[in-house]
Amino acid sequence: MCNLRCVFCQNYDISRANRGSGTSPQRLAGMMIELQAMGCHNINFVLDGHGLAKRGMLVRHLVMPGGIAGTESIMRFLAEELSPDTYVNLMNQYYPAGRVSSSQFPEINRRITSTECQQALDAARAAGLWRFDQRDFW
Ligand code: SF4
Repeated sequence: MCNLRCVFCQNYDISRANRGSGTSPQRLAGMMIELQAMGCHNINFVLDGHGLAKRGMLVRHLVMPGGIAGTESIMRFLAEELSPDTYVNLMNQYYPAGRVSSSQFPEINRRITSTECQQALDAARAAGLWRFDQRDFW
């Protein structure tokens, strides 16, 4: 179960199901060490922007239609509160899913445009960020 509850969730059935259980920070750290010992190279956390670690981090930001992801302010936050050296992956793969349709949440019932892609990158650069992982962006 995911507690962010995005209406556009592409895994809506899974993210809303009452599966999984809470755990302590200590146990979570132990689980990550166990995964590392098993050869895991990458652990992803989905955050709402308030719990970012500062080391060994790639921030992945999903650009949304109409600028509603707050790309500009998030890029400024990363550059000013973390570091302009923060490694950032701007993602352009949003597509309508979950509860989004032409009658519900119509403002996000489309993919983003190439102009919006460019604006997101411009906003990140304007904030002072410069380390980008753009494998999927263009
Ligand atoms: S899109 Fe991601 S963060 Fe949002 S509800 Fe689905 S799994 Fe959670």
